[in-house]
Amino acid sequence: MKPLSVKFRIAIWLTLLTGLLAALLLAFLLSISKVVAAQAAMTQLSQTVRSNLSQTAMANGRLALGDGFSFYQNGVSTLIYSQDKALLAGQIPVSFSIEEDFQNGITRVVSAGGGQYLVLDLWLAMGWDNGLWLRGLMEVPENRQLTASLLRVALIVLPAFMALAALGSYWIARRAFRPLDSIMSAAASINEAQDLSRRIGLPPGRDEFSQLAATFDQLFQRLEKSFESEQQFAADASHELRTPVSIIKGACEYAEKYDETPEDRRETIAMIHRQADRMSQLISQLLSMTRLEQGTETAQLEPVNLNGLLRSLCEEQGYDPDRLILELQEDVTAAADPALLSRLVQNLVENGFKYGKPDGCVWISVRQSGGELLLEVRDNGIGIPSEQQERVWQRFYRADPARSDEGGTGLGLSIVRQIAQLHGGYMTLESVPRVGSAFTLHLPAPDSPSQAKT
Ligand code: ADP
Repeated sequence: MKPLSVKFRIAIWLTLLTGLLAALLLAFLLSISKVVAAQAAMTQLSQTVRSNLSQTAMANGRLALGDGFSFYQNGVSTLIYSQDKALLAGQIPVSFSIEEDFQNGITRVVSAGGGQYLVLDLWLAMGWDNGLWLRGLMEVPENRQLTASLLRVALIVLPAFMALAALGSYWIARRAFRPLDSIMSAAASINEAQDLSRRIGLPPGRDEFSQLAATFDQLFQRLEKSFESEQQFAADASHELRTPVSIIKGACEYAEKYDETPEDRRETIAMIHRQADRMSQLISQLLSMTRLEQGTETAQLEPVNLNGLLRSLCEEQGYDPDRLILELQEDVTAAADPALLSRLVQNLVENGFKYGKPDGCVWISVRQSGGELLLEVRDNGIGIPSEQQERVWQRFYRADPARSDEGGTGLGLSIVRQIAQLHGGYMTLESVPRVGSAFTLHLPAPDSPSQAKT
């Protein structure tokens, strides 16, 4: 069976609740009407018997009843008994077939002969040891008519009421859920048509649905952006790989046709070698970037002595100490992943040489400032024009593509930025064309909260 929609369920619940409330109200009305009728009957009984009492006397040993005395009035039968409880006057209703003790001034309900009677006895004293009993009897009003008419009304009104409640609550639920329908249909069409540029576009409001729609729109926007950047990335990556492949292919074809001397062949092989190196570098950087982005490669932070790390990096990489100058002062310890931090510094140093003067230098310094650890890699190279400084962090961006022969892929600084972020830090760049560039890694100083910018 198809599950009921939330709208239907709300309508059913509200209808049942309304029906229950209406039934309770009816029951309450019935019981109130019974109480009111019983109260009215008791008042009637009391007034009639008391009025008859005032009309009763004995004269010369005989009963003397006034003109206002009535044995049967307003449903009340009045009986007069002697002190010995012998009936002197009045007629006992046939259905009141029991012996009932006399109790002065107390109205009570007595079951007799299948019916129920209200009974009130009043003692009329005559002298100190003589007197009469007046007994009032009144059948308890059953109010059958009222009950029947209330039930009749209920039979008509209750179903009508419930139908109205069902329609009304379904209508309200439908109206309230209409924004949800638009959200669902927009999400479905985005899913079916794979059109991430679509938005739900509910008018802004403070209710939950408007907020949900706004959140979905933000989500779609982010999805669209990340989808676009993935597409761009794939396009850029294949383009970057296609270039060296075409060069290699062209070189092979040329060699087949024209290379005759061993010298020509050596040159062609050297070119193929360079392009293969370039492809291999590109592939390894792509892999590294994807691992960092997808979180497959995470930073394993540990206390790292920065001076020690920089010294061993220079040794391992065999940098010329006359061209790579370490400006190290006191020992500084940072929470870092030694392998990732080394890769970051290596990328920056190699860029410093690559985009430097032929005999240019690169300086590395470490210092603490404003609650941050600053690791700066500075060169006196070609510099970067200010309008390009923001973009150098983008994947595949090269400020000067003419220098692509330097072996650049345009991925180095993206990786640098990602590593900085994995350490809870960020990168800044200061550069002046033809003077040099300074790339600075900002790390939170030990025991200070992390921050994220570039
Ligand atoms: P690439 O592999 O091309 O070096 P990067 O992401 O490392 O890629 O750098 C992006 C671009 O930023 C480079 O192509 C270059 O134009 C510029 N750049 C990077 N470092 C420097 C530097 N130290 N001096 C001048 N320009 C630089």
